[in-house]
Amino acid sequence: MQADKPALRVAVVGAGPSAFYTAEALLKQTPGIQVDLFDRLPVPFGLVRTGVAPDHQNIKGVVKVYDKIAATTGFRFFGNVRLGRDLAVDDLTAHYHQVVYAFGCESDTKLAVPGEDLAGVHAATDFVGWYNGHTDHRAHRFDLANARRVAIVGNGNVAMDVARVLLAPADHLASTDIADHALEVLRTSRVEEVVLLGRRGPAQAAFSPKEIEEIAELPDVDVLVDPADAAVDPLSAAWLEKEGARSQQRNVKFLQERAAAGGSGKHKRLRCRFLVGPTAILGAGKVQQVRIEHMQLVAAADGTPRPQPRGTSEELAVDLLFKAIGYRGVPVPDVPFDDKKGIVPNVDGRVVDKPGGAVRTGHYAVGWCKRGPTGLIGTNSLDAKATVEAMRQDAGAGKLLQPRLADIARLLQARGVDAVSWQDWQRLDAFELQQGQQRGKLRQKLVGIDEMMAQVRALRAAAAKSG
Ligand code: NAP
Repeated sequence: MQADKPALRVAVVGAGPSAFYTAEALLKQTPGIQVDLFDRLPVPFGLVRTGVAPDHQNIKGVVKVYDKIAATTGFRFFGNVRLGRDLAVDDLTAHYHQVVYAFGCESDTKLAVPGEDLAGVHAATDFVGWYNGHTDHRAHRFDLANARRVAIVGNGNVAMDVARVLLAPADHLASTDIADHALEVLRTSRVEEVVLLGRRGPAQAAFSPKEIEEIAELPDVDVLVDPADAAVDPLSAAWLEKEGARSQQRNVKFLQERAAAGGSGKHKRLRCRFLVGPTAILGAGKVQQVRIEHMQLVAAADGTPRPQPRGTSEELAVDLLFKAIGYRGVPVPDVPFDDKKGIVPNVDGRVVDKPGGAVRTGHYAVGWCKRGPTGLIGTNSLDAKATVEAMRQDAGAGKLLQPRLADIARLLQARGVDAVSWQDWQRLDAFELQQGQQRGKLRQKLVGIDEMMAQVRALRAAAAKSG
């Protein structure tokens, strides 16, 4: 085998955590392999850059691991390349032996209740993208200056991030890598109360214990739970005992302690409500109230406590409402899509034409587009290893694509696509860090694609000049 002709070439679509873990597993497993990561954005790292909250820099630190993976021989990055616009799936199959989809879940789950389109009703994912400087979300407007009480539907970790960003003093975020446009608006915020609406009970709260504990540690914030809300019903108590995780037991303990302690008259409040599900969002032109139905828990066929309406409801006055009920995948041209689950249909990472359909040889899925929007960043490492094991088995059995062409860089160049290389990104990364330092921040993110590309070109030109 010639040194410049790798034995196996793999394309990974996406450059978030699952893409990097896939690259890592492939590079470790197959000497001589070439792994090319494609991202529609000029910058890598997916939700680590645009999802993880700016005050969670310890979590963002995982990029050091990805930097090491990118430094491995055989790794290449092609940023600013969108599948379906700059490249078609057919182009990938013409160049690679295997193609891995790692493009996550880019949209949000809808509540499907009347009033969802009212002004002041937002997807939490839009707010997260906005404060993190995601180019798709920079134009959103959040009227925090006229909001005192905000409801968040759902109580997962995204709900926690949104609640914490709304309740933390803006100064806490000023020295992070938060987008300037968001910091400006957060400084005008008059939000005093965030009400979390969980449709199930405290035992089924979806947040991680340390996330709620972190909010309780914010200055001037009370975490309030009504004792009736904190009570665990008999079904949940039995479920908790039998199959509850330690984190769920810790959540219940924490919530019951907060219920017993009551508030201490702090200026801001996180109020945790349970067994309430929104059925309508009401308001003249903009959200003014949310109608919430009272729930009870009944055992589903597998014993899991599920919410069931009790037949009573109330209306809660709110100034803004965030839906934090999960991300959802969006279809990508020529890639199979399971519309019901919002993912790429697959069997253990092997892409199938449709749910229950035939395996599409050489095509794989990892991360959220494989299993749905669940799990922490590290979950994607195991998940990627499992898909890479399936890829290894298939390659061993000769189940590969039959590429005719060697280097996709030539095709991109012929099409006039200005792909961002890893070296380009490293220069941009250094530039953002330096710009941040000048402003007393960790990083000054560039937000628009045009702005990023102009800077990439300027840095390239400067590097070429300095030799
Ligand atoms: P999630 O953890 O799945 O939470 C979704 C929440 O929405 C749950 O409380 C769920 O209640 C509720 N929900 C779903 N459909 C609903 C409906 N129709 N009406 C009312 N409530 C509804 O999702 P997420 O918060 O978007 O987080 C996604 C993943 O990223 C999670 O694995 C999360 O842990 C992770 N993440 C981690 C961090 C961190 O580590 N700091 C930060 C952000 C996200 P049910 O339980 O009743 O379905």
